[in-house]
Amino acid sequence: MNSLLISDRLVARTVEILQQGGARNCETVVLWLGSSNEVREVYRPEQIVDVDFFRLPGESVRALMGHLRATHQRVLAQVHSHPGEAFHSKADDDWAIVRHEGALSFVVPVFAVHTDSGSFQDDVAVYQLSAADKWERVHAREHLIIGS
Ligand SMILES: [Zn+2]
Repeated sequence: MNSLLISDRLVARTVEILQQGGARNCETVVLWLGSSNEVREVYRPEQIVDVDFFRLPGESVRALMGHLRATHQRVLAQVHSHPGEAFHSKADDDWAIVRHEGALSFVVPVFAVHTDSGSFQDDVAVYQLSAADKWERVHAREHLIIGS
């Protein structure tokens, strides 16, 4: 599995969206879209959120699918915030938007308050969906390259 490539700027945009949710005391999920292994767009789907969960309504999933078709992209990874510690909860396993083998799911602690593009790889917990359909913790630096 090739590492994902993403620019500083798009990581900063991701963190900014998560922090905006945190300012309302809510989790937030964003999707990293692109083709091949390069992230080209940070997409914030319409979502129902509270302090400790997020859900995408059916209409939001349909809008996402339409956007992917129109832009010839796919979902490379999902990124969401937690109010506290970063880990993949049972709900995160069950409700993951990315479901393909090798998919990456990033969890950012404390609503990303202490995170910026420079600390992103150290702050996040990253999980990858295995061939056996299990989310396994992996090392961020082995799966993500942040460029300028
Ligand atoms: Zn979660």
